[in-house]
This record gives sequence, C-alpha cells and structure tokens, in this order.
Amino acid sequence: MNVTTDLSGVIASGMCIGCGACEMADSSVRVSLNPKKLIFEPETPGSQAAADVCPAVAVDYEGLQKYLFPDSAIGAYGVVRSVHLSQSTNSARNIAASSGGLIKEVLRNVLSSGDIDGVIALDHVAGIDFAARLVTTPEDVDTLPGSIYHNLKQTPALQILRNTPGRFALVAIPCQLEGMYSWIRTQAPELRDKIVLTVGLLCGWQYSHHSINAMGEYLGYDPATISDISYRGGGPVGKLTVTTTDGEVYTASRRVDFGYQVAFDRHFNTNRCHVCINHSNFLADLVVGDAWLPSTVFTKTGVSLVVCRTEFAETVLKRLVDNGSCVSIEVGEDEIRESQTDRVIFGEFAYAYAAFLQNLGLHTPRLIGPNHGFGSVKPERHVASFHRELVRKQTLMAAKRYRYMKWRKGTRELRGYIMRYVRWFLVRILRVKSLSGQRKEIAKDRFSGFR
Ligand SMILES: Cc1cc2nc3c(=O)[nH]c(=O)nc-3n(C[C@H](O)[C@H](O)[C@H](O)COP(=O)(O)OP(=O)(O)OC[C@H]3O[C@@H](n4cnc5c(N)ncnc54)[C@H](O)[C@@H]3O)c2cc1C
Ligand code: SF4
Ligand code: SF4
Repeated sequence: MNVTTDLSGVIASGMCIGCGACEMADSSVRVSLNPKKLIFEPETPGSQAAADVCPAVAVDYEGLQKYLFPDSAIGAYGVVRSVHLSQSTNSARNIAASSGGLIKEVLRNVLSSGDIDGVIALDHVAGIDFAARLVTTPEDVDTLPGSIYHNLKQTPALQILRNTPGRFALVAIPCQLEGMYSWIRTQAPELRDKIVLTVGLLCGWQYSHHSINAMGEYLGYDPATISDISYRGGGPVGKLTVTTTDGEVYTASRRVDFGYQVAFDRHFNTNRCHVCINHSNFLADLVVGDAWLPSTVFTKTGVSLVVCRTEFAETVLKRLVDNGSCVSIEVGEDEIRESQTDRVIFGEFAYAYAAFLQNLGLHTPRLIGPNHGFGSVKPERHVASFHRELVRKQTLMAAKRYRYMKWRKGTRELRGYIMRYVRWFLVRILRVKSLSGQRKEIAKDRFSGFR
C-alpha cells in the first residue's frame, strides 16, 4: 500500500471535497477555489498531519463507526436502528424545504427542548458563497436554505465547533462528517462531547462551479452577478432559481429543463463523488434524504426518508410525532435502497471506478465501507468508458465550451438521456418491480395525514 505523506495526490487528482479538516490539522494549509477546476482544494500539499485526516486520502469507516456508535451492529447500510418516511405537518415549512421539511423540525425541537445550545448549519453568505453559521433560536432555523448542490468550503463549521463553548447539533453532508470526525478522533477528541446530534444529508453528488457557469450560458445570466441561488423548494423535485444583482430571476425545472440536465449531469460532479461509497451517511446520527419511492409519488410537497442510527435520533423523531410537528411511518431498510438505487447505496459504480483509477496508477482515496461486497460491482468496460467521457468533458469545461456540451447531449448522448426518463417512468410510475413481484409497495392507507 502507498504511504501518503501529504495532500499532493489529492490536489493532482482533483479529489478534494472542501471539508476543511486539513486546515484544522495543519495551519500551513489554505483551502481556496481553484480557478480552473472550479472546486475548493488546498493551495499547498501540507504535511502528514493534514493527510491523516483527509477523506480524499482515506476514511476508516469501521473505526469511526465503532468510535461513534460503540456496541452497535454494523450492516450494509451502516448502523441502523430504524428507517422512516416522514413529513413536517407545517405546510409552509414542508413546501419551502428540499424534501419533507424534517431537518428544520428536528433542529427546532432540539433547540426548544434545551438539548443543545446551538445548531451549526449552512447558510447563505453572498452570491454563490454559503458557509456554516451558529443558529440559537427555533425561529432562526427557518431562515436556513434548502440543499445547496455546488461545492463549498466547509471549514467554518469546524471553526465554530472548536471556538464556541456549548453543545451542538450539526447538519452535514457525508464527506464533511468524514473529515470532521477523522480530525476530532485523532487531533481534537475534546470536541466529541460537544456534539449532541449530527443530522446528516443523504448525498448523491455535489457539483463544481462549472455547473453554475454552464447554466448561465443556457439561461442567460452572468455568473459574476449572482446574488443568490437555490436548488429546491416548491415541491418534491423543486427548481433551480438564480437571482442576479439587477433583480432578475432565472429559473429552470430540475426534472425537465434540458440545459439543467446538461449542466448538472454527473460529469460536472467533483471527482471525489465518483468514488464515494458513503452516500447514505454512515457517520450521522440521523440521516435525511428524499423518499424517491413509487409509494410516495403522490406527494405534492415532498416526503423525507429518515434513518435513525442512535437512540437519541429515534427519541427526537418520536417527540416530533407526539407533539404533532410531523407525520411518520416506520418502514424497512429495503426502502433506503429502493429510494436511492443499488448503484448509490452499495457503491456499485464507485468501488469499480476506484479500482480502475488505482490500476491506472492515479491517486484515489482508500474507501472500504460497510456496504463493500453488497450489490454487483460494475464491469470494467463500463467504468473505463465513463472515465474516457469524463476526461473529455472536463477538457471541454476547462475550455468553457458549455454550448458545445449542450449540443453533444442533444445528439450523441441523446439515447442515454432519454433512457433515464424511461427508467424513471417504469420504476416509479408503472411500478414494474411490484408488478413482477420483486418488491411489495407500502400500502396507501399508511400515508394518511401525508400531503
Ligand atoms: C449536495 C447534496 C446532495 C444531495 N443528494 C441527495 C441524494 O442523492 N438523494 C437524496 O435522497 N437526498 C439528497 N440530498 C438531501 C436532500 O436534498 C435534502 O437535503 C434532504 O432530504 C433534507 O431535506 P429537508 O426537507 O429535511 O431539509 P431542508 O429544510 O431543505 O434543509 C436543508 C438543510 O441542509 C443544510 N444544507 C444544505 N446544503 C448543504 C450542504 N451542501 N452542506 C451542508 N449542509 C447543507 C441547510 O443548512 C439546512 O439545514 C442531498 C443534499 C445535498 C446538500
Ligand atoms: S478533502 Fe478535506 S481534508 Fe482533504 S484536502 Fe480537501 S479540504 Fe482538505
Ligand atoms: S457524493 Fe460523497 S463525496 Fe460527493 S459530496 Fe456527497 S458525500 Fe461528498
């Protein structure tokens, strides 16, 4: 096995996800936006201390799960006590949120019940800049944004945690928790007790800022003049809304707008997402995602998929149901997989692609999670063809040939693009898996009280 002594491999491979752990571990490191790749990454390789906490070098999932959830059984989905489908009963909160509005209900509850002194969560700063801030009142929770899908520097969350006395709930994507806990376990163990609850987002991908620039060409805004951006809200899928400093508002449906399908296709993801095996957030106490299920297609406002990994997470969810803040039904672990696909949950693509990159002698993080060995790893020809396409598209992005990429999607990539909709229609609307006896849908009457 190669011994990694600094972050040079991470920088060369573009694998940084901006978690900020290296900045906390090594004061010589500064994470900033790379002007070509348009992702955050360290300006210099730093030291062994930085490499030791970096989730783009390695993540010790087994050690971290034992550290966080001692004595709990670890299965293919990580540590799971229970799985739920839940929705806020406050329709305004639900409709403004990305899925069921559950995160805001959880945060309001733990703040008002005195479990914590503050919430550390992402908020809008200016333009396309978002950063963690401290929220101390339930009313303030509703000012937080929905899901932000572009790459960000997450160091402020760690700085607030280190510099502020008190007990906190923290909202984070999976790789953010990987960096944070790798740093805390090895270098700042005193911070562990300050974290009362982690609310983790389920996470399929994030995008480099090339997505925002490409979308600017398609919709007609100048990226330099963006004053705010939002990706969700207004329904289960939601729309992209970009506001510019002159007050103009540009929108695109995330499901049907062709430009959106080009600019937010997975070749625009940060590189680390292609080898990520932790989409279901193995290190978070309470995980929230979208319930993309045939049985929830009825919703006009969004339903959350919730995974409780700790007893306290279950207690909080029960409190929300008991006080009427949310409706919730318990479901089986299989709904995690059905909602997100085996490809995502079992890392079917990621394990194969990491092995492929390693064979090419390229840097790839060492990531073996609890889902390793489940699912069917994709064949090498599949990942090799993806890799060729990725290299080609990243060259086009670097040259800012976004219009050509759109034309390409409408011509040589058209078949793959159409097949995505066909698959969606077959699985979610026609429910072919239920019709062919592969799975049993959740009975309709269990959703009474959901909208
Ligand atoms: C990058 C990203 C990718 C995602 N991919 C998937 C996916 O593939 N499948 C799926 O089911 N769900 C995914 N989600 C989660 C989903 O979009 C919703 O965030 C989740 O269902 C919670 O919805 P809600 O209605 O409870 O929360 P909301 O009311 O929408 O609250 C969102 C909360 O998340 C915080 N937040 C938003 N963006 C970020 C960010 N980038 N980093 C850290 N904190 C953030 C906000 O501060 C807020 O507290 C993703 C989220 C993100 C941010
Ligand atoms: S992934 Fe995190 S720790 Fe690694 S280089 Fe990027 S910001 Fe630093
Ligand atoms: S897919 Fe994985 S690497 Fe990418 S942003 Fe989400 S958690 Fe991070």
